[in-house]
Amino acid sequence: MKLVILGGPGAGKGTQGKQLCSHLNIPWISTGEIFRGAIAAQTNLGLQSAPFVEKGELVPDTIAIELIRERLTQPDAQSGWLLDGYPRTAFQAEELDFLLDDLGQRLDWAIWIDVPVSVLMSRSLERSRADDRPEIVRRRIDLFHQRTIPITEYYEPRQRLLRIDGDRPPESIARGLLETLGC
Ligand code: AMP
Repeated sequence: MKLVILGGPGAGKGTQGKQLCSHLNIPWISTGEIFRGAIAAQTNLGLQSAPFVEKGELVPDTIAIELIRERLTQPDAQSGWLLDGYPRTAFQAEELDFLLDDLGQRLDWAIWIDVPVSVLMSRSLERSRADDRPEIVRRRIDLFHQRTIPITEYYEPRQRLLRIDGDRPPESIARGLLETLGC
């Protein structure tokens, strides 16, 4: 199955995404994790993305799109995957469709984990990553409103959006997800 998981910072995308991947036996591909790993290892990608990731800004599209192209052509991504953190904008969602056309693949579902902003804010502040300082969290939530919420308008008319209530215990979200996906 080919999936993207969408939602604000602290919506539970990582937790739900990883569980779903082990259930479906597909790779979990998190652009945020790849950027953080590259920054720690000081690779070229890390040096290019660090100034943006550290401020909670979006890494330029050219870098993010190229990263996804490279990752989706790896052998382990040929029969399914779940993208976490990509797409981040409606533009990236469209770019993903272009890329999948090129690769002869098709997205099955975009899962939207719906969580009120007040809950996103408090959950993000409970985490302790370097990019989770209050002003950075606020910036990421602003960007989520401006850039990520419009993705629903891309997937909804294409009948590929699955909305899941994310304001409940993780086990209940996970059960709801498996039921909705029918697996
Ligand atoms: P995340 O772990 O998904 O919250 O991502 C952490 C950071 O990585 C974000 O705040 C951005 O700086 C960067 N990032 C992750 N995914 C993308 C993307 N698709 N486009 C641009 N920047 C991204």
